Amino acid sequence: MTAAILWFRRDLRLTDNPALQAALAHATKLIPVYIHAPDEEAPWSPGAASNWWLHQSLTELDKSLRKLGSYLVIAHGKSQAVLAKLAIDHASTDIFFNKLPEAICQQRDNHVSKHLSKAGITCHSFNAGQLTDGQQLQRLDGGCYRVFTPFWRAALKQGFSSTPPSPAPKVIPPPPRLIKSISLEKLGLLPSLDWHKGFKVHWSPGEQSALKQVRRFFDKSVNAYVEGRNRPDHEETSRLSPHLHFGEISAQQIVRGMQSRLGSDSTSPVDNGPGQYLRQLVWREFAHYLLLHYPDTDQQPFDPRFQNYPWLRGKRAKILLNRWQQGETGIPIVDAGMRELWQTGWMHNRVRMIVASLLTKNLGIHWLEGAKWFWDTLVDADCANNSMGWQWCAGSGADAAPYFRIFNPVRQAERFDPNGDYVRRWIPELSLLPNKHLNRPWESPSSELLKAGLKLGKTYPKPIVDLQTSRKEALQRWERVKNLTTIGIARK
Ligand code: FAD
Repeated sequence: MTAAILWFRRDLRLTDNPALQAALAHATKLIPVYIHAPDEEAPWSPGAASNWWLHQSLTELDKSLRKLGSYLVIAHGKSQAVLAKLAIDHASTDIFFNKLPEAICQQRDNHVSKHLSKAGITCHSFNAGQLTDGQQLQRLDGGCYRVFTPFWRAALKQGFSSTPPSPAPKVIPPPPRLIKSISLEKLGLLPSLDWHKGFKVHWSPGEQSALKQVRRFFDKSVNAYVEGRNRPDHEETSRLSPHLHFGEISAQQIVRGMQSRLGSDSTSPVDNGPGQYLRQLVWREFAHYLLLHYPDTDQQPFDPRFQNYPWLRGKRAKILLNRWQQGETGIPIVDAGMRELWQTGWMHNRVRMIVASLLTKNLGIHWLEGAKWFWDTLVDADCANNSMGWQWCAGSGADAAPYFRIFNPVRQAERFDPNGDYVRRWIPELSLLPNKHLNRPWESPSSELLKAGLKLGKTYPKPIVDLQTSRKEALQRWERVKNLTTIGIARK
């Protein structure tokens, strides 16, 4: 009787799971294991909010496995050592797992596979998380894509797998004998600060919830996505990002579910809600592609001219960063976003761009500081998406917005939250201010402030930065680096 090891990582699902399918086809007994090894993901070991999600997601995965006759073995330690011990203890010669998208993880997996093969253990790995094969996508000149639109066209040309996602198995054979698993609580994933208590109101981690959420999105919002995706006051995005990050649903399953709405020509999807949604999923592909081919861009600027950018540092930077983190900048749309993040572990994409632009351009603080805060507080924290998002906003990224296009948070709020519902939701102390003054309370006549029960500097902060002056200063900083020669250091 052969037993195969099924190593779960960021693929916490039973549907459309190629490693699970292959393991079931190969063996009559299965050992599903999750190995907690945060150090192996350094410097981006999961942050506090992600750990909260992971705890719930592993609980759900275990429940689903138990319904089918098995259970999840939880282990702690170096992956290679845990896998080798499991294989030896249970006379297993085969390990199945789905690949992680980051180059550093793939290198580590290759190392583990090589080491285990010396002990007669074969590793079988599969692509389960991405729509595209990033290794195959190349420009005609052999270089890597650095601009989204040609990448998008190439991805459509490559096509997304035509094999329908596999259903969850009806039964999963249990491990050959009872295996001691450590308790999930022992992993200490739940944050010690009880700030995460509110997350439960907003999220239900796990595969079943991901499937429900995608159905809800298709039924209610996908057709309105073209406009809805920019409106933080409407809940019209899919909110699937944490489910996608932890692999509770695959991008392939989502695309399959929209196939009929995308038109018959898969290389040129209809430019409607589903078409725009597919485009966002391909931005996710692009982010993972960039990090795969330029693995230092989680720390280093994609545009090397930014190596010399005069970021604000020292005590002043610390104070401003802290005010930004606490949602106390005095700029309502920014504070609304930062408070949404703190209370729910998530922030709308439009607002992520606004808060990131303020931090990096108006305040002149290094994008990595923002990326680290997001990393710790987002339930969907994802190294590739986060690094690309931050670098894009800072102006140092691949295909980044031109530097001189500095978001004006007041105008952004007036355009994308026209009735002020989003700002009022997260900053109730501003709720009585009329729309005209809501996004710039500092310009509000004192009679209006009085009527709204607002004391600037007391009940709500005065702005920590003058938007016009800081914009000019940001442009001056850019002037100092924009003409620096990049000969010899430009990315290929
Ligand atoms: P939807 O609009 O429903 O989009 C569907 C899916 O497409 C998302 O779940 C996501 O997987 C992908 N997607 C959408 N927009 C983007 C994008 N701009 N870049 C890459 N993928 C995208 N996303 C993360 O998943 N993790 C992060 O850590 C992260 N950090 C970000 C940091 C900054 C500064 C910025 C500007 C963006 C960041 N994003 C990140 C991208 C984006 O904001 C989120 O993916 C999106 O808000 C998630 O909500 P949703 O699932 O409702 O998105």
